[in-house]
Amino acid sequence: MKIILLGPPGAGKGTQAKLISDKYSIPHISTGDIFRKNISEKTPLGVKAKSYIDKGQLVPDELTIDIVNDRLKNDDCKKGFLLDGFPRTVKQAEALDDFLNNNGSKIDTALLIDVPEKFILDRMTGRRVCTACGASYHIRFNPPKVESKCDACGGELIQRKDDTEETVKERLTVYSNQTQPLVEYYKNNDSLSIVDGTREINDVFKNISNILGSDK
Ligand code: ADP
Ligand code: ADP
Ligand code: ZN
Repeated sequence: MKIILLGPPGAGKGTQAKLISDKYSIPHISTGDIFRKNISEKTPLGVKAKSYIDKGQLVPDELTIDIVNDRLKNDDCKKGFLLDGFPRTVKQAEALDDFLNNNGSKIDTALLIDVPEKFILDRMTGRRVCTACGASYHIRFNPPKVESKCDACGGELIQRKDDTEETVKERLTVYSNQTQPLVEYYKNNDSLSIVDGTREINDVFKNISNILGSDK
């Protein structure tokens, strides 16, 4: 089960990724989470990535592709994986296809979580994320049981620095210019499935489960 999650910032990729990864026991690989971990540990990669992320721009393909290829070589990816936030450019998608092709495999499903732009700003500015496990909450749509504490791990919830109105607008422009072409790319590969991401979190997950099937 090799799955990609596509969709604009705020579509619910991270939220659904946690649910999918638990249900199907496949690793959840989020390039955003990998970058944020490197930023908080001040690694050379984190220092480079930070300047792009803070502006709402994409981290260059060369850096991003290497990180994902390295991660996919891990044993835990043998029976499948869930990519959240990668690929984001056609170049990344081609690199991923090449990598899998060299290993005699391919993507099974590219799942587009479809959410029109008018929903996005509310979702992003109300988002709170766990500093320990990366789980996403929303102050109105999906509040934690205890204020500012992660239900899953008890970690502290914070607002991401790039979830401001100005940066979100830039990220939406970047999405439509650089990432949206991937919808066509995966349609042409016959691997695209689309779910309505404006429904409630559990309904979106039910629809995704129907597409992916009931079992591993
Ligand atoms: P992405 O990873 O695609 O950027 P997230 O999963 O972090 O998106 O979700 C963005 C914000 O929207 C979060 O605050 C999350 O709690 C909220 N959210 C996610 N799915 C839904 C939904 N179906 N309805 C309402 N809010 C949602
Ligand atoms: P969101 O959940 O809002 O879609 P992510 O956590 O996936 O955001 O990504 C946060 C930021 O990290 C992006 O705005 C971008 O700067 C960088 N990033 C994440 N994934 C990639 C990627 N595949 N290619 C380039 N930059 C990326
Ligand atoms: Zn947590």
